[in-house]
Amino acid sequence: MVSITCTVNHHRDIRNSCSRILLCTALLFFSIYVYGKIRNGHEVRFRHAQDSLPILKQRLATAVGLTSLEKRDLKARIANLSEIMIYHELTRDVLDRLKAISPRLYNEMDELKDRMGRPTDVYVRLISMREIRVPFVAASILSRSVRDRDAAWSEHGLHSVAVDLWVSERALLRLSHEFGHLSYIVPNLASYSEYYRKHYRSVTARNRIGHLSEDKSGQLAKIFEKRYMADYRSYVAQSGRLPSILSAMAEIRRYYRHWQAPIPVPPAWYDADEITTTR
Ligand SMILES: [Zn+2]
Repeated sequence: MVSITCTVNHHRDIRNSCSRILLCTALLFFSIYVYGKIRNGHEVRFRHAQDSLPILKQRLATAVGLTSLEKRDLKARIANLSEIMIYHELTRDVLDRLKAISPRLYNEMDELKDRMGRPTDVYVRLISMREIRVPFVAASILSRSVRDRDAAWSEHGLHSVAVDLWVSERALLRLSHEFGHLSYIVPNLASYSEYYRKHYRSVTARNRIGHLSEDKSGQLAKIFEKRYMADYRSYVAQSGRLPSILSAMAEIRRYYRHWQAPIPVPPAWYDADEITTTR
C-alpha cells in the first residue's frame, strides 16, 4: 500500500486556524467495481439509521425496567443515528447546490472516468470534526490496485474515490477544489502515483502536497475553484443568494429533532413473500 497526501494553505475556515489548510489525500490499494456517479457518502449508514431510529425511539419510549445505564446507552445510539441522518441531508443539500450553481462542473465529475474509460464514483460527505480522518478541512481519499494501476479505489469499493469536507460556508468552494485534484488524478492515477511518491515523501514537501508548481492536479484544483466562483457570481446575479450552509444545517437539525419515522409493520403472514405450508 502506498499513500498520497496533498495540502495547500490558501483557504480561510470560519471555525479555526486548521481550516486554512486544504488537503487531498490518495492511498493506494485494490477492490471491486461500481458505476461512476457523484454520490452521497453517507448513503449506506443513512439507510441503516432510517431503519433503526424509529425502533430505538420506540424502545426508549415503551420499555419498562431499563437501568439508567441502558437508557443512557439507548439515548447515545439514538443521538448517533440522528447525526447520520442530519449529515446525510446536509450533504444532499450541498450537492444539490453545486448542481444548481455549477451544472457543467458537476456533470464533468458525475462522468469521471479513469485512464481505461471506466466510470469512477465520487462519494462526498459533509462531516463533523469528530469524524475527520485527516486534520484538514477537505480531503480526497483514493487508492490504487497493485493489480490494476489505473483503477481508483476507496472504502466504497473499486472505481470509487471519497471526498470528506468539514461543515462550513466554504464547503462548495472546497469541494470544487477537490474535484479539480480528482479530475486530474483519477485519469492519470498510475503516473500521478509515481510523481507523488517521488515528490511528496519529505516532511517539508508534505506541506505543499498536491501543490508543487508543476503538479497538474493542484493546477486543476485552482482552475476548478475559479470556475466555481465565476458560476457562483452569475448564479447569484440571476437567482439571488442561497441560504447559508450553517443555517440550512440548523434547520435540518431542528427537523430531525422532531422526526418520527413510521414503525415498520411486518406484512400479514398471507401477504409475506415466504412460502407457508400448513397441515
Ligand atoms: Zn489541494
